[in-house]
Amino acid sequence: ETLRDMTVQKEAQEELQRLATRDGLTSVANRRSFDDTLNNEWRRASRESRALSLLMIDVDYFKRFNDTYGHQGGDECLRQVAAAMSRVVKRASDLVARYGGEEFAVILSATDAMGAGIVANRILERVTELAIPHSGGEGGHVSLSIGIATSLPQPDMTREGLITSADAALYKAKHAGRNRFVFDSAAESVA
Ligand code: GH3
Ligand code: MG
Ligand code: MG
Repeated sequence: ETLRDMTVQKEAQEELQRLATRDGLTSVANRRSFDDTLNNEWRRASRESRALSLLMIDVDYFKRFNDTYGHQGGDECLRQVAAAMSRVVKRASDLVARYGGEEFAVILSATDAMGAGIVANRILERVTELAIPHSGGEGGHVSLSIGIATSLPQPDMTREGLITSADAALYKAKHAGRNRFVFDSAAESVA
């Protein structure tokens, strides 16, 4: 009886932990979990002088998608896109998170700009393969835009600066025509 009570208690604790760290809609990491992980990975990257990459990802023309297919259709689209990203990002130290609304973030520890580009490209490919119809989207399907920022081995950047750089790169990806990834300017000057 006591053993059974302990099992029930353990399951309840695990469920609480899951609720605290996962996004309710998509089941990827939530914003809080993203903040915690970025904090830890940032410190580890600085300590070990290793690169850390961040992908900021935004669904293209998603307002139109909701307008056309309804919010439930929109929610289902977010679930599928999140699942596709999770299938690409598989290392234990990496994290896929819902940053907010229709924006996602991917933390890639010990990954340089080239590695981050490969991951970003795979994510775009997987989402293209999903072929979710979107009459107002690029080529009639749902696509994503991705901004990539990489901290250099001797970081002159702050953690917030990494997010700002990835955001700026995402903005460039949108303006360059969407359905693509763009590196932040720091990576460009290194390449
Ligand atoms: P862009 O290509 O420039 O990113 O265009 P956009 O329409 O995607 O950009 P914008 O950021 O203006 O619109 C985001 C929209 O995403 C607003 C809202 O309709 C929708 N959205 C945000 N969060 C959710 C959500 O949780 N569920 C659903 N269904 N829609 C959401
Ligand atoms: Mg957005
Ligand atoms: Mg968008």
